[in-house]
Amino acid sequence: MAASTMLSGQSSDNQRESSGTIEIDRSQIRVESVLTEEEQNALSPGEVLEILRAGNERFVRNDLTARDHSIQIRESADAQFPKAIVLSCVDSRVPVEDVFDKGIGDIFVARVAGNFINDDILGSMEFATKVAGAKLILVLGHENCGAIHAAIDGAELGHITKMLENIKPAIKRSTVAKGPRSSQNRLLVHEVSENNVLIAMEKIIQESPLLRKMVDYGEIDIKGAVYDMDTGVVNFIK
Ligand SMILES: [Zn+2]
Repeated sequence: MAASTMLSGQSSDNQRESSGTIEIDRSQIRVESVLTEEEQNALSPGEVLEILRAGNERFVRNDLTARDHSIQIRESADAQFPKAIVLSCVDSRVPVEDVFDKGIGDIFVARVAGNFINDDILGSMEFATKVAGAKLILVLGHENCGAIHAAIDGAELGHITKMLENIKPAIKRSTVAKGPRSSQNRLLVHEVSENNVLIAMEKIIQESPLLRKMVDYGEIDIKGAVYDMDTGVVNFIK
């Protein structure tokens, strides 16, 4: 194994079967370099969005880029120039870097159950964009979200009770779905998930003059999407 590495999910002529595992010649792996400051500066918000869309298409096709993490760790050790910051739920079924086929040094990820906005998340977004140069903010909700189910059902437990208050405005706004106001109502859960993303996007603009100004100047863009756990597809809603 000295000159080779073992990866899963790969398929190429460079593989050979060996005692139940697949060996890959390391010299044949396309190594994706970590983004440099110059490359980051040259990207527009629209180009970053297309990079994320293309990465998600590869994820859906199960065609993830092979990455040599040991090289990427060394390349990014001194500085980072990521393309985007993604706000996601903490859900273990939403592996954000994989979903966009991204590796070390590629994207910032902020996570909180229910992917809502608070001062700490806004500070993280301001750091990622104004200080570290990311060009895109993506609010990424997901279908079948436990936090949204719990908020709809009015769950109360420890610190969860207060946390779920952040999702209540999205429930209040969701008036299109017919049927019971419970997490059993899939249409309602879907509508709340989308509204929760839209409200987060609105709050970024309303509560951060710094980010609002960057959007006005075209330096960054803010997008919203919902991840479908059945298909792996990121559906952009705004
Ligand atoms: Zn969730």
